[in-house]
Amino acid sequence: MKTPLIISACFLGRNVKYNGGNNLLSNIKELEEYFELIPICPETEGGLNTPRNPSEIIGDKVFSNIGEDVTAQFRKGASIALERAIKSGAKLALLKSKSPSCGNGLIYDGAFSGNLTVGDGIATSLLKEHGIMVFTENEIEQLFQKIA
Ligand code: SF4
Repeated sequence: MKTPLIISACFLGRNVKYNGGNNLLSNIKELEEYFELIPICPETEGGLNTPRNPSEIIGDKVFSNIGEDVTAQFRKGASIALERAIKSGAKLALLKSKSPSCGNGLIYDGAFSGNLTVGDGIATSLLKEHGIMVFTENEIEQLFQKIA
């Protein structure tokens, strides 16, 4: 049986990024061989449109670059991601680095300047609080080691 893996939907080539694009991973076929992929996109599933204004975390809230408070949508999307992880029994997640939803360890610093700061995206943070291990696209080797 394949191991369930929560995965950012933009990695699968779905055009759900804020700018209407995606982050298709070149090795998605290999991942599909070993994992049951369970896509999430906390921003669109939380109710935001595509394309949308980019957002960043400021304190305990999330704002778009034109000052809209989108915290509620980000939190709703994170809850949906957690529900999906619990329902599928997934203990592992592969999520897009630096995103205010999916980022892990480093995120944009809230000034819309392109600079990074230490922290997790809203969905990543919730998943980690519930014991799910989160990897970025730069840590796929370490992810495979978990099922070796
Ligand atoms: S919220 Fe996550 S899955 Fe959705 S576009 Fe952003 S990085 Fe990709």
